[in-house]
Amino acid sequence: MVVQKFGGTSVADPERIREVADHVARTVRRGDQVVVVVSAMGKETDELLHLASQVSKTRPGREMDMLITAGERKATALLCMALHDLGVPADSFTGSQAGFLTDTNHMNAKILEVRADRIRAAVDAGRVPVVGGAQGVSTENDVTFLGRGGSDTTAVALAEALGGVCELYTDVSGVFTTDPRVVPVARRMTRISFDEMLEMCAAGCPKPAMRAVEFARTHGVPLHVRSAFTWEPGTWIIEEDPEMEDAIVSGVVGDDSEAKITITQVPDRPGVSAKVFRALASADVNVDMIVQNVSEQGHTDISFTLPSGELATVLPLTEQVAVEIGADRVLSDPSIAKVSLVGAGMRTNPGVAATVFETLAANGINIEMISTSAIRISVVVAGDQCDKAVAVLHTAFGLDAA
Ligand code: ASP
Ligand code: MG
Repeated sequence: MVVQKFGGTSVADPERIREVADHVARTVRRGDQVVVVVSAMGKETDELLHLASQVSKTRPGREMDMLITAGERKATALLCMALHDLGVPADSFTGSQAGFLTDTNHMNAKILEVRADRIRAAVDAGRVPVVGGAQGVSTENDVTFLGRGGSDTTAVALAEALGGVCELYTDVSGVFTTDPRVVPVARRMTRISFDEMLEMCAAGCPKPAMRAVEFARTHGVPLHVRSAFTWEPGTWIIEEDPEMEDAIVSGVVGDDSEAKITITQVPDRPGVSAKVFRALASADVNVDMIVQNVSEQGHTDISFTLPSGELATVLPLTEQVAVEIGADRVLSDPSIAKVSLVGAGMRTNPGVAATVFETLAANGINIEMISTSAIRISVVVAGDQCDKAVAVLHTAFGLDAA
């Protein structure tokens, strides 16, 4: 049993849809049981969001979900038609028809249960079910949207419900040691563990969607990320293999979409950090890296990073809290980059951090912040040094393709 999910670029136009149908048909003829999940065609989700913003100021969640899920619904019907042309019996299903029961949180609904009986029955009857991604029906019987990137989650949830593997077809041919557009000598990995993939997602690796990887790890669903353009085998995201030795560094991720805020001379007493970050949380700010130094003479500095798009609204808020807690000043830098190295072998190999810092120093790159987990080291550097930092670290850890 294999669940094949096709992203927006994979079904962007009529020709692409026919190519996907051809691939599905081949898989069926090979004797596999196939369930298909599709995203909306091309940039349709963005277009529908834009359309809504032109029509309405209030954009009620219930109506937004009805609107957005129409994109995936169109794609299911078109793909089924293309499959019929190839002699493959196929039926389209909305999320609701496919048994996706969700909560009532519109625009970002959570799956509560997958009642996949109808999908299983279709497969048993020799048909290919084509399910609309990122959608379901709520406990109040309304159509819901699972959020951006939610089609991956749909596919993983179906694979878990049906007991199969999950193939995510996209416009990249797998997970790379770093972004090949930035570092042309990046290599495609044949496999990566769930833990490493999650760290890479959190570090800013855009695909696959983090939520889907989390779901796959929790339910032990093997994921195969691969290309819908070359159809070559891609990268398997799977449970760590205890028999295999871990790479010290598996991948390097650069993310230049963040900004930094520093509050100086923060009084060093209980409750101060709590006050700052509660205020930011109440404003729904997605704070990433937080660093606080030891205090000297009762004062310390706190720095944190956040998506740069949020800086304009967060800065005045931070200034207000800074006054309330009796801090000195609020400094900000709109263009920083976070460069992260991820590798399960870091757990057992000393000296990784030293090599990172030496490599950056040798290339004249200054480190502004450092944070680590058991299998990740992240540094903040100036935004315009992101690509260079990624490239030199990629080389230093032997990741360049020969
Ligand atoms: N089409 C939606 C999006 O672009 C859902 C998905 O494809 O995952 O976010
Ligand atoms: Mg998508």
